[in-house]
Amino acid sequence: MVPIADVINKIVKRRNLGDPEKIQKQVLTDPSIQKFIKDHRQRVNDAMLKNSLPNLFEYYTQKHSENKVMAGYRPELFLNGKVIDVRYVPTTAKIASDHEKNTERHLQLIDLPQKLHDVRLSQVDITKGRSEVLGLISQFLHKYNKNVHQKGLYLSGDFGVGKTYILAGLANQVAAMGKNVVFLHVPTFIAGLSSHFEDNSLQSEIRRVADCDFLILDDIGAETLSQWSRDDVLGVILQSRMDNVLPTFFSSNLDMKALQDHFKETKNAIDPVKAARLMERIRFLAKEVIVSGPNRRH
Ligand code: ADP
Ligand code: MG
Repeated sequence: MVPIADVINKIVKRRNLGDPEKIQKQVLTDPSIQKFIKDHRQRVNDAMLKNSLPNLFEYYTQKHSENKVMAGYRPELFLNGKVIDVRYVPTTAKIASDHEKNTERHLQLIDLPQKLHDVRLSQVDITKGRSEVLGLISQFLHKYNKNVHQKGLYLSGDFGVGKTYILAGLANQVAAMGKNVVFLHVPTFIAGLSSHFEDNSLQSEIRRVADCDFLILDDIGAETLSQWSRDDVLGVILQSRMDNVLPTFFSSNLDMKALQDHFKETKNAIDPVKAARLMERIRFLAKEVIVSGPNRRH
């Protein structure tokens, strides 16, 4: 049997690392290596230690080096048959940062101010005027975890009470679950539709919104509609959400009744029937809930 020291000697010499005895001592007295040996003392014997020395040495050097190739990973020892082996596991910091990146990738924050990208539901303080909506959101999330086909909410309330803020927190939370979330500021979206004419991207833009896992239509009712944008854009998106029972949330300064009046009127026509059909879809998709409180914009 080759003594452990000889094995270490060979590696150290081959890699030109300096005093073999010193290094062997360092490796075997490394606190985490010692702990591993202690934790697995029933299975670790001298022969195993000897066979594992190259791996233990790798573990030791990786653990103590600033090697950027392994940035984000840390070496970990494990029993692999008859040897102690090394594997690389992502560090907690890496897991957290991957998670953040993933969240960003899944959230298409169209027209949402940068400061809302970091809002978390847990940060929204529960005031009297908000407790109902926050309770319903938490119920929603609970059900959504089990089955994605859930009815959304229609947050209505005065300007500045925090509707957009709350929905941004929800959007970030759902995106963190790995879902594809589209957050749309309706007035900006409607006003920007013509930009898709030139490159024929309108249909794909509508599909992207209609088919996403989770849609938030922020500030609906504040847009200026034409018959076309009402029926062939908004109407199509809502119909498709309804047909596929895909979660859709709304925020509006108008309650549902006032929104229906808003939909009646387009630039050159008054159309109560079309408005009623649109509202039917919204009522199917979302339950109305009033958010109240002081105007937080001041
Ligand atoms: P709404 O959409 O109802 O008009 P917003 O969500 O835009 O209202 O909120 C108004 C302002 O108050 C925004 O600047 C928002 O960032 C801020 N705000 C709302 N709720 C909170 C909160 N819980 N904590 C900190 N700022 C908030
Ligand atoms: Mg808003």
